[in-house]
Amino acid sequence: MSHVPSSQTDSDVYKTLLESTKAIPWRIDWQSMTFSYIGPQIETLLGWSQHSWVSVDDWVERMHPDDREYVVNICVSQSRAGVDHEADYRALTVNGDYVWIRDVVHVIRKHGEVEALIGFMFDISERKQTEEHLIRLQKQLEEYSYQDGLTGIANRRMFDTVLEREWASAQRSQLPLSLIILDIDFFKQYNDHFGHIKGDDCLRQVARTLALAANRPRDFIARIGGEEFVWLLPETDAASARQVARRCLHLICQQEIEHPHSAVSHLLTLSLGVGTRLVTAGSEALEFVEEVDKLLYQAKHDGRMRAAFADD
Ligand code: GH3
Ligand code: MG
Ligand code: MG
Repeated sequence: MSHVPSSQTDSDVYKTLLESTKAIPWRIDWQSMTFSYIGPQIETLLGWSQHSWVSVDDWVERMHPDDREYVVNICVSQSRAGVDHEADYRALTVNGDYVWIRDVVHVIRKHGEVEALIGFMFDISERKQTEEHLIRLQKQLEEYSYQDGLTGIANRRMFDTVLEREWASAQRSQLPLSLIILDIDFFKQYNDHFGHIKGDDCLRQVARTLALAANRPRDFIARIGGEEFVWLLPETDAASARQVARRCLHLICQQEIEHPHSAVSHLLTLSLGVGTRLVTAGSEALEFVEEVDKLLYQAKHDGRMRAAFADD
């Protein structure tokens, strides 16, 4: 039995096929910039009726404002050039939500001129959500692992990374690298007196305050221990490091944080070690940190509430 379908039957078959896929087919007449067809599935996805899609403007208006310029530019320029293309964007639903869509577009040409665009819209919201979730997690992970959770400034890990980079850079440039290590005086007594919650608040305040003491783009502050902070100052000589150290002492003094059980003042104070190095080949960053740490210890030993400098 031979079966020769009429063209009417043919188009019925195609229509049924097109309208039963999850992808949403559409056709735009290039001359008039109007929809000559859009699949009824569009209403299931976005809520706008099939008949409400009249001109290209309906499509543009139902796109997230942040996506419009970029998507329209791509589609217009690629269509003009006769190049098939695709674009991801957020389409507005009738409820005011957005759904991520991938539009895959074929350019139909007749006698060298663009006649129409036909394409399929795919709902990619689930894929986008997974993607965005992963990006967010990744960022959070990076932040958490390099950021001090209590104060929000960099942590010890970040300091190690930055120190390594700056150490190498200082060796290449032969410009001095300075380091200040700061430690709160009698902080154990502060905690014992006010409790840990207040102690934590105090640490946040100290971090915020110390952060104001230097401001060149590569100056780097971190919390490297319980009540211990560092300033790493690239391309900074001993005299400038001294200035930053004095500013730290001054800024904390200005905060007038009550500390009734300190043995050196009724206010919260700091001790600092301050060192400067011209980095030579084969020298170790860790050695430098230890040297500055010894200066901090010396400042503590000499009565606290002061800085000890390498060149004194
Ligand atoms: P010194 O002047 O010799 O530095 O005396 P100190 O009491 O500051 O030094 P010590 O290292 O003996 O004690 C540090 C104290 O800092 C211990 C702990 O009570 C407190 N501390 C460390 N980390 C935290 C923290 O994350 N939160 C709070 N609230 N306190 C902390
Ligand atoms: Mg201390
Ligand atoms: Mg300490």
